[in-house]
Amino acid sequence: MKTVEDLLRQEYFEQFEQLVADTRPTLDIANLARVLDVTNGVAQITGFSSLGADELVTFADGTLGMASNIGAQRTGVIVLGATDRIFPGDRVTRTGRVAETPVGKALLGRVVDPLGRPLDRGMPPRTDEHLPVERPAPPIIHRAPVTTPLQTGIKAIDAAIPIGRGQRELILGDRQTGKTSIALGAILNQRDTGVISIYCAIGQRASGVARVIQELRAHGALERTIVVVAGGQEAPGLQFIAPYAATSMAEYFMQQGRDTLIVYDDLTRHARAYRELSLLLRRPPGREAYPGDIFHIHARLLERATQLRSDLGGGSLTALPIIETQARNISDYIPTNLISITDGQIYVSSRLFDKGQLPAVDIGASVSRVGGRTQLPAYRTVAGDLRLFYAQYEELETFARFGTQTDTATQTTLTRGRRVRAALRQNEFDLLDVPSQIAILLAATTGVLDHIPVDQVADAVRRAADAARTACAPILQSILDGDPLKPLERDRLVQAMTEALQTPPHGKDAG
Ligand code: ATP
Ligand code: MG
Repeated sequence: MKTVEDLLRQEYFEQFEQLVADTRPTLDIANLARVLDVTNGVAQITGFSSLGADELVTFADGTLGMASNIGAQRTGVIVLGATDRIFPGDRVTRTGRVAETPVGKALLGRVVDPLGRPLDRGMPPRTDEHLPVERPAPPIIHRAPVTTPLQTGIKAIDAAIPIGRGQRELILGDRQTGKTSIALGAILNQRDTGVISIYCAIGQRASGVARVIQELRAHGALERTIVVVAGGQEAPGLQFIAPYAATSMAEYFMQQGRDTLIVYDDLTRHARAYRELSLLLRRPPGREAYPGDIFHIHARLLERATQLRSDLGGGSLTALPIIETQARNISDYIPTNLISITDGQIYVSSRLFDKGQLPAVDIGASVSRVGGRTQLPAYRTVAGDLRLFYAQYEELETFARFGTQTDTATQTTLTRGRRVRAALRQNEFDLLDVPSQIAILLAATTGVLDHIPVDQVADAVRRAADAARTACAPILQSILDGDPLKPLERDRLVQAMTEALQTPPHGKDAG
């Protein structure tokens, strides 16, 4: 007769037997890899029997890497961090994930790196949502035509090179010509539009980024902006993924029906980081030592900018990539690539900058291929032929410099052209709403300013715009509502401004 103890022992023994039978001893070769060698930016590893393209791996020190050149014997890994604590022989583990970044409202007002890690001494952004850094662009059938303007608050741009929501407009020019300033102005001008902005700094010096953050904060724009930074001293891998990660952060909002604006500052440095990685990955160099797919990496980034159809929420992503040219050469490799990928370009000229014509936008060399459709109709009435007039004026000016005899018509064009040019000047971040811009452009192009000395135009346009606002508020409101400017309304605006400029600046007080 068996005791209870015997029964328990037997049951225990059976369970043990079952456990042994179920256990299959395995050596997980597929997930074992080691570092072969490592350079500043790229590590060669060996061992994984299977690895997905762009899959993330973790090095022994916790640094992440992105599998890039996957080969049978060895795999080139783009290191997303410093390589000074990665050594040959170190273990590497698979993550089974691709590179992703946190997304969501928690990122607004924050300064983060491309992997969403805080750079502003704050806590990591609290969000459960993540998106892959590389995502396919929305298919054509999800896209709608660009119809809503994205006002930058900068006269020269909103009038002559208008940008629409969902458009890709390149900003290019030599160094220190005001490129960042224009893009930043566009962000600051979204104060009342509900547009969410992302500023993505790639390969810049820390001081430049600090200036941007400080301006965003000073103008109260930081809380509706995400700043993504991969500085010049960071690993080239981080600089490379920065714009893609920033775009995923914007896409999150776009998919919720929000309008977003993203600035890539700048893609010249992005291209250089990619060139460095490609050379370290031993890919064959092509023109200017850039790899063959340099066009593709920028095309697939900017393809993600779009206006979504209204039944898909109607969100949009407007992209302002920045490119630095050398010695005004816009036919270099990277600038020509970007010009062909984008829907237009704003060219800032060092020649105008040196003359003090700020913002240094060269209207003749700039173009916006889709924004014109979105421009408020009143702009067309006041600035329809601004480009044409300005081009004629610049041509005449060159001739007049030779002391040629000029007739009265030419004299008028020269007089007016100088005032139009002066009226297009605008201080950094001194952004103007649509009614003020319309009033100023109208004053300049109809001759209201012709008798004003050029150096007093800046003050005169301010007074003219104020007068227009006080005397013609309903007209200015109808402009904002999208009505064209009727001839009678135009005359009334001109009259109000002419009267305002007849009284000397402090006339009211003296009287
Ligand atoms: P970098 O090549 O260094 O990136 P950048 O082309 O981005 O330069 P910014 O940094 O925007 O140029 O501007 C260069 C300088 O010109 C800055 O000191 C800025 O304050 C000044 N600046 C730019 N635009 C204006 C303006 N409209 N009015 C006055 N100053 C301006
Ligand atoms: Mg800049």
